[in-house]
Amino acid sequence: MYPFTFTKAASTHEALNAGRRGGRYIAGGTTLVDLMRETVERPETLVDISGLPLREVTVTERGGLRIGALVRMADAAAHPKVRALYPVISEALELSASAQLRNMATIGGNIMQRTRCTYFRDVTADCNKREPGSGCAAREGHNRTHAILGTSEACVATHPSDVAVAFAALEATVHLMGPDGERRIACADFLLRPGSTPNREQAIRQGELITAVEIPALPRPLKSGYLKVRDRQSYEFALTSAAVALHVRGGVIREAKVAAGGVGTVPWKLPAVERHLIGERPSEALWTAAAEKAAEGARPLEHNRFKVELLKRTVERQLRIVGGTK
Ligand code: SF4
Repeated sequence: MYPFTFTKAASTHEALNAGRRGGRYIAGGTTLVDLMRETVERPETLVDISGLPLREVTVTERGGLRIGALVRMADAAAHPKVRALYPVISEALELSASAQLRNMATIGGNIMQRTRCTYFRDVTADCNKREPGSGCAAREGHNRTHAILGTSEACVATHPSDVAVAFAALEATVHLMGPDGERRIACADFLLRPGSTPNREQAIRQGELITAVEIPALPRPLKSGYLKVRDRQSYEFALTSAAVALHVRGGVIREAKVAAGGVGTVPWKLPAVERHLIGERPSEALWTAAAEKAAEGARPLEHNRFKVELLKRTVERQLRIVGGTK
């Protein structure tokens, strides 16, 4: 560790002032403290925002859901409204990390977490995300867990969050507050693909604070769920995952929301799969045909070619689980 300043914000106003002066926000600390220990990140000032009033889960006027940025992962997963309206969110959270971490980590921190690429966390390795222009050790290195979608020459790291995959599928919005006021940004635009600047991971401005994530209302009845495929049954990141929500009325799929995790540099929305489902009747053949489209555009690396087939099977299986086989 190294010396740094630590302050606790007594109000949102105080936090924003400290953020504007370059302070880094910290709440659960489950990612940032690790990165500081490994000297991957070296913030000079930490601003503890854990006392701010951003811990509510509320149903919006239109019947969507607003989850405060400081709601703990465990609390969000167990919340009756989350469980009732969007089981896919509860399941994604419960399949994340360990119980101890879920009791500390927050929703805002979860979507801000940084990649688990081992080269990123090894300060002796070349890594464009940690040190722009230094190269990417993963491209020619051990890249079994890396991305097959949304990659660039500069970076092939996956986004590690599970719940962000559910948010991407449901087309959630991130609410931000900053020196210039409040704004909202679609989850899909908030998390950035690496391109030539993999060091820039979120569309967040200096001093801005995530205040909430809002999930829009969707037609009911809505069935949803999250499937995670990984090397071991707990406390492991996804090799592939699928978040699926389906609205079926009169025996026909009227709405389909599908995204994949563990395969993209950001949570990977699957519009081609969704289009294939809408207007059709659930059937085994439909799930298989729709899932075939999940890996469109994939560019596997030497050690992760298996993810192409695994992704299709993961999506197919989760479509079957959520949609049934009628
Ligand atoms: Fe760094 Fe990205 Fe390459 Fe990993 S994949 S070494 S995070 S540039």
